[in-house]
This record gives sequence, C-alpha cells and structure tokens, in this order.
Amino acid sequence: MIARVRTLDATDAARGADLDALIERTAELALGYLRSLPDRPVRVDQDVESLRRSLVIPLTEDGEDALAVIEALARGADPGIVAMAGPRYFGFVIGGSLPVAVAADWLTTTWDQNAGLYVCGPAASVVEEAVGAWLIELFGLPRASSYGLTTGCQMAHFTCLAAARHAVLARVGWDVEARGLFGAPEVHVIVGAEAHATVGGALQYLGMGRDRVTVVAADEQGRMRVESLREAMAAVPRNAPTIVCLQAGNVNTGAFDPLGPLIAIARERDGAWVHVDGAFGLWAAASPRTRHLVAGVERADSWATDAHKWLNVPYDSGLAFVANAEHHAAALTPPHATYLEYSPTRDQVHWSPEYSRRARGFTVYAALRHLGRAGVRSLVERCCNIARLMADGLARDARVRILNDVVLNQVLVGFVPADGGDADELTRAVVKRVQEDGVLWLSGTTWHGMAAMRISVSNWSTTVADAERSVAAILSALDSLARR
Ligand SMILES: *Cc1c(COP(=O)(O)O)cnc(C)c1O
Repeated sequence: MIARVRTLDATDAARGADLDALIERTAELALGYLRSLPDRPVRVDQDVESLRRSLVIPLTEDGEDALAVIEALARGADPGIVAMAGPRYFGFVIGGSLPVAVAADWLTTTWDQNAGLYVCGPAASVVEEAVGAWLIELFGLPRASSYGLTTGCQMAHFTCLAAARHAVLARVGWDVEARGLFGAPEVHVIVGAEAHATVGGALQYLGMGRDRVTVVAADEQGRMRVESLREAMAAVPRNAPTIVCLQAGNVNTGAFDPLGPLIAIARERDGAWVHVDGAFGLWAAASPRTRHLVAGVERADSWATDAHKWLNVPYDSGLAFVANAEHHAAALTPPHATYLEYSPTRDQVHWSPEYSRRARGFTVYAALRHLGRAGVRSLVERCCNIARLMADGLARDARVRILNDVVLNQVLVGFVPADGGDADELTRAVVKRVQEDGVLWLSGTTWHGMAAMRISVSNWSTTVADAERSVAAILSALDSLARR
C-alpha cells in the first residue's frame, strides 16, 4: 500500500494570492532600496551583535509565513546592508548595478535555469553565445576565442590557468587532466611582483603552487619591468612548460603592464602561455582614450575579467577567454557522466569550472544590449573622468599627495600633516574618519611601504556632484583631525 503523504503547508505559499502578495511586496522593498541608494549613508555597521539578534534565531519547527520572513529579513538585514551599489562607494573595485541588469537578474532567479547544459535551458546557452561574441569584439580578442562565465575573476583565473596548465603539459606529452601533477614535468610560472592575490589563489587551487613562482620586479606604478621579464625568461630551461601571468590594471594604481613588449618576450619561447589579469583593466579597450593601455593584449593566450566590476551587473559575474578553445575545453570538461545529455551547441560545463550553475549570462546580456558599444565606452570614460576630478580636487589641498599616475579609474592618496607629523598615521586616521562619517566609503592600502587611501570609481551612477561632495567630505575629515 502506498502511504498517504501529507501535503506540506508551505506549498500554500505558492497559491496565487499569496504569490502575488509576496512578489509585489518584494518588488516594493527592492524599489525602495534602489531609490534610497543615492542618499543612504555609505557605512559599514560595526554592531554585529544587533545584526545577530535579529537574524540568528533558533530554526523553528513549523516555519513562518513567506511574506513575514521577507519582511523580517529586509528589516533585520537593513542595518548590515552596505550601499555598495550606490554612487559614493569607492572601496576596493566594486561596480554598481545597472537597473537593466538588476531586472535581468530578477528574471534569472525567477526562471531558475540550470545553465550547465543546453538541454537544461537553451536560452541560457544561446545568450552566452551572444555575450561571448560581443565581448570578444569589444575587447578586440581573437575571433575564435572560447569563453566561460564564472563567478568572478578569481574563477576566471582558475579557468584560464587550467587551460594553460593543460596546454603547456600536453606539449611535453603529459595528460594532466587524467594523471594530475604527480610525477609531471615541472611547470615554470612567472608572475609580476604586483600580481593580484587571486592569481596566487588560482595557482594554489591548481596544484601549481602560489609560492614556487618566479616573481618579476615592477616599477614605481606597479608595472612589470620588461628587462626583468627578459631575465626571468632566460633563467627558464629551454622547452620547459612555462606560464607567464601579466596584468592589465593594478588594483591600487590602475597601472598596466606594458603588454605588447612583455608578450613579445614571452613569445620568443615556443609554447609559453601568456595569461592576462584584466579584472577591470580589460574594459579600457572599450574607449579610444584608454585603448592604448591594452595595446598588444590580443596576442596573449587567455584573459580573465569581471562583469560585476566595470560592466555594473550584480554579483556574481566573471569572464574567462581562451584563444585556443581546444585547450579550454580539454581542461574544463568534467569526466563524462552517462546521464548527461550533451548537445551539438553550447554546453556550458565545457567552459566553466562548475556543473550546475546560475544562468549568469542573462545579466551580462542585458547590460551589454542596453549600453551598446557607446554606452560601455561612456561608462568607462565617465568613471575615469571622475577619478581625475577627485584627484585634482584633493590635490588642491597642500596636505594631499596623489601617489599614482591616474591613468584609469584608480586614485591613491596620501596625507601629510602640516606640522611634519606622521603621514601614515594621519592617512589611516583620515580613512577611518571618512568611513565613519558615512558620506562615502573607501578603504586604505599600503603602497611602497606607505599608508594610502584608495579611490576606485566603477559605478554608472556616480555623478560630478557625488565626486565633489566626496572630496569635500574627505577634506573635512582631514580638517577635523588636524584640529585635534
Ligand atoms: C578584483 C580583482 C580580481 C579578483 O576578482 P573577483 O571578481 O573578486 O574574483 C583579480 N584581479 C584584479 C586586478 C582585481 O581588481
């Protein structure tokens, strides 16, 4: 006899009237948040206990009404939600969210496609084809490049360096996917002194070791030195599997490795693989004003970038491109499972280090289709203009030092006490005061042993007025500290 299964009460929530109320109220909450962004204080709540009190409750036996949960979540989370998507968030390198991308993200969630396979959602697969083709054109990469949509640049590095590992070892007759690295010929990895931490992360995950790399010196802006790469390459045995990691856009200064000359040096070695970290810097290719910064980038073998930074789509969204699709697929395709149904079209499991995955192509598609080439260009140029404006505005004060050449959207700032006191101490104090004031948010860093304030302009909604208000807030924080 078949046991009678009790219908869960929770399914009541899916009934028409409840669903309407739930979705409508959620849209209202979301809209309220979006509308509040330009004026909401940009602050990080330090009162973790109050957040825990409202959010970390005992799991109930019977559950709660769906709408009640959403109301409680929105209320309880609110003090701990950072206005990161707003116009005066200059911390790290954080993109905003274009409204069209937020809308596409809602649909992505609603459609709930498993974008691992074409048969699980043909639209998700086909939209990635459009996104891949558009971006290859926008960045000026080789036409036949393959691409994978990842969670971020970290996993884009992982994807690209897995393809690199495959290619350089296959060339010496080693099947790394089947045999792993046990007993494999050694892979020589060369990185810049200013390589982003996620390059080391990817090497760490791929068994290539984040510390057993050759580190090539960088200049005062953080650009890899051409002569130092030549020396490093000369020390690698002929025909040894070799991977060179370059950078387009230093996370602190925005500086670009001189890609053309560096790639030319790497190319003198047969079979050396060149990977480029262009998390935000690759987008410089979208504007004729900054395109020279990535000159020669198309001669690399793989490129990693983000959509959740400068394209301003919601988290999480990264992109990996590989010039030779065969290496990409060989490295990423998981062992065949008999229950999977592959298609003659795009099955994303061949291109991303994931199996089941979110259909994250929809947001990128919507953002690019909405902006067009001119829109992406103007997004990049506006951010660069505002970075320049903020640097100039700050530099008018005699106590301010701009520590980098502002070539893109990044500004590094130091503060010098008028009375000749400790500059590092003052700089850290200004960063802290600005963070507490809540007009804008930014973070500190250490640059060439000095404390520095970082400004990263990466949001479509940041206006000249936001920039002026932010400069005034930074200088007023400096004044208040000087008065003490
Ligand atoms: C942000 C950043 C990364 C890492 O990107 P995620 O999207 O956070 O994984 C890598 N490289 C550079 C230069 C970056 O700015």
